[in-house]
Amino acid sequence: MSRLWAIKIVLLVIFAAVIVHSGIQLFEHRHHKLPIVAGPGVTKVIKLSEYCAGLKGTVADTDVFILEGKEKGGKILFMANTHSNEPASLLTAIIFIENAIVAKGTLIIIPQFNHSGSRNTRPGDGYPLYFHIQTEWGQKTFRMGNRDASPLDQWPDPDVYIHYPERQLLSFIDVRNTNRTWPGRADGPLMEKVTFAAMELLRKEKVDLALDVHGAETMFPVTNCIVAPEQSVRIATMAALTVKAMEGFDNHVEPSPQGFRGLSHREIGDYSDTLPFLLEAPIPFLDQPTGPKTEKLLLDGKDPFLLRLAGQKKLFVPYDESGWPMEKRVGQHCSVIQEIVKQYSRKNPDGTIFIQNVPRYADVVKNGVVHYYHDPAKSDADRIYLH
Ligand SMILES: [Zn+2]
Repeated sequence: MSRLWAIKIVLLVIFAAVIVHSGIQLFEHRHHKLPIVAGPGVTKVIKLSEYCAGLKGTVADTDVFILEGKEKGGKILFMANTHSNEPASLLTAIIFIENAIVAKGTLIIIPQFNHSGSRNTRPGDGYPLYFHIQTEWGQKTFRMGNRDASPLDQWPDPDVYIHYPERQLLSFIDVRNTNRTWPGRADGPLMEKVTFAAMELLRKEKVDLALDVHGAETMFPVTNCIVAPEQSVRIATMAALTVKAMEGFDNHVEPSPQGFRGLSHREIGDYSDTLPFLLEAPIPFLDQPTGPKTEKLLLDGKDPFLLRLAGQKKLFVPYDESGWPMEKRVGQHCSVIQEIVKQYSRKNPDGTIFIQNVPRYADVVKNGVVHYYHDPAKSDADRIYLH
């Protein structure tokens, strides 16, 4: 064998070893399971595919936790992980699923709205595959997901995504973004089936409020806010003013633009009677000019480059050495969600929703997020849902 052939074979073996080694890591990430414990308030868990048969058997199908009160009242849908790289939403959803008691009305929670996106990653941006949170009873490991569904589940992408039914031209990648595929269609691409199923749930169950919970960059103006279309603005404003006055944190209101299609806060309002709201909490991890995209940055939001930019007034949120820790972001979501429900109930006595046993902002900041999580090892096996 010539020397050249020997080099070629050695390189080939090294290349194959790298592919296999990284492939195994990505395979394990895609199949890692996160246990969520159905708390005492959960009365039923169904699949989203009950509202769109085309989802059945696909990775995009996802659990819907239903918490029905003893007394009938209004209904609210809370969606988390529409973008799975904005995990404060999922962490908030788990607090609600594992603890909330609904005294009146119905609370519906979809913790992994883009279930495929939670199994995707972004190696080009150096995302960690997981993040870990230490609890009193051990470590909880979460998959770090991506903004878009995995191409393993929906592919190929078009050159341009033509929104249905408005025909607005969107970026090709938005065909896998479940905050661009609303209101969706039963026979569209997989992510359109996801949003279509959610629209059917809203319409068939006559849901009053839909909350789509996100995170946004500190350098993006639409951050630390509630995005609301015309019909939701009054309740959003009352909620924003109340949390500012009573709990001391900012959360301004942004109007939902009428000409930008495919977003939950626009299409839910236009294609159903439900009042939509989209909640944004700051997530420094997603800003471009940061240091390495580490698990630590994801959790504590501390970054020296953002700190310098804050000094130059380039950020849209207050920012200092304390960063923007996960407890603050999850605490804000907990309070804003409860405040929107309260403001809606005040104006609609027939549609009152009364949720108990969920912490507010100050509680989560003081006790930490995981303080509210249940140990799956001490929970009944039939109450554990693997996500
Ligand atoms: Zn988002």
